[in-house]
Amino acid sequence: MAQFDLILLGPPGAGKGTQASRIVEDYSIPHISTGDMLRAALKNQTAMGLEAKRYMDAGELVPDSVVIGIVKDRLQESDTAAGFLLDGFPRTIPQAEALDDSLASIERGVSKALAILVDEDELVRRLTGRRICRDCQVPFHMVFSPPAEEGVCDKCGGELYQRDDDSESTVRNRLAVYSQQTEPLIAYYDRQGVLARIDGEQSPEQVYAHLKEAIGRP
Ligand code: AMP
Repeated sequence: MAQFDLILLGPPGAGKGTQASRIVEDYSIPHISTGDMLRAALKNQTAMGLEAKRYMDAGELVPDSVVIGIVKDRLQESDTAAGFLLDGFPRTIPQAEALDDSLASIERGVSKALAILVDEDELVRRLTGRRICRDCQVPFHMVFSPPAEEGVCDKCGGELYQRDDDSESTVRNRLAVYSQQTEPLIAYYDRQGVLARIDGEQSPEQVYAHLKEAIGRP
């Protein structure tokens, strides 16, 4: 069977993280999130993590050369042999081109680019209420999916926090960056014939059902 190389596209707050967890569990492929990798680098105080922090806190993109390097290294690992789900990468045309080149060099290519689409005001509402577990990264929401005990993760008991980049002004900037730099990828993958557009303003279960339909494998 051909590899199963998936990309999850969409603005911040579209629910990519939540849907990604389900996809990778159902299809047994690794979840590769550049945002999670950058936050891990920051937590470990690596030079790259500290360099990335100033972009992340401002809602700007980390330079292409940095993230392309991280993803290329990650794709060398053996668990990606049968496929992967990229979440939060690519975010610019040069990143998409670099990904295409490195997959082409091993006779692979993007199987499907899944774009989850949500209106801007709804994204602001979602992002500013978001809280994440410091230990297991599971997302909660103060309005839509509050934890049983305030500030504590239901899954592992870890501490919940608001990401520095989920404040309203940073959120607005992240959305502007998305529309300028990342949205053009929708047309890019459409031209390649691998794009699926998913309405993200439905329940997480409905979004997931549409994603599975678009993926088209049992
Ligand atoms: P995320 O968790 O995907 O929303 O990513 C959080 C932040 O990490 C973004 O706002 C960017 O600053 C940075 N980041 C994550 N992925 C990328 C990427 N592919 N290119 C550039 N910056 C990224």
